[in-house]
Amino acid sequence: MNNQTDRQAWARQRMVERDIVPRGIKDQRVLDALLKVPRHLFVGESQRMSAYEDHPLPIGEGQTISQPFMVALMTEALLLRGGETVLEIGTGSGYQTAILAELAGRVYSVERIPSLTGQARKTLDALGYTNILVRLSDGTLGWAEYAPYDRILVTAGAPRVPEPLLEQLAPGGILVIPVGSNTIQELVRIRKREDGTTFEERMGGCVFVKLVGKYGWEVDC
Ligand code: SAH
Repeated sequence: MNNQTDRQAWARQRMVERDIVPRGIKDQRVLDALLKVPRHLFVGESQRMSAYEDHPLPIGEGQTISQPFMVALMTEALLLRGGETVLEIGTGSGYQTAILAELAGRVYSVERIPSLTGQARKTLDALGYTNILVRLSDGTLGWAEYAPYDRILVTAGAPRVPEPLLEQLAPGGILVIPVGSNTIQELVRIRKREDGTTFEERMGGCVFVKLVGKYGWEVDC
């Protein structure tokens, strides 16, 4: 390891010890993924120094990479054991996508902004991930081709749970999504029982950029 790589590994270690573990994240597999994935490569050069601070950062097009604690909380909420098929809505930088790819079998990720889709693909390819497919599309419609999904994660705030996502969730599956107004949301975990009925748990307040699409917010509101 050269000095640079050493410093970044140390910054990740400090991030996990200072911002993630003390706030209650316990799943060791999630902690290991956060220690491994080089978050600084998912932000622009000018943001690299801040990549391991616990706040969101701009990634262009008015969008943000979620803060590390929120990534940890959402990922832990999915209860991944390895091997699952996961649908992610809101690829953004691709950082959360990489974390999911470390912990699941295959990850299908949908992003609606072309430049972000292209950049995320580049970053994820350069890191050598072979279990991720990124698609440019309206993610509120899901991705029917590969459904059903064992897990679905939405990383943008929705006014309500998009119906297609509930339909594309496998029996026994888990959907995690921020739901609320355009300024503040609550993280909601929905589980689908084997008989197809669902139940919801509320996991606390959060702030995300808007989920824009047919079953989300309209473009200009
Ligand atoms: N997980 C990302 C978070 C990006 S912010 C990261 O850690 O970098 C949320 C992303 O959701 C934005 O990139 C935004 O463009 C995208 N988004 C919003 N509405 C969407 C939709 N209907 N379909 C797909 N992506 C959407």
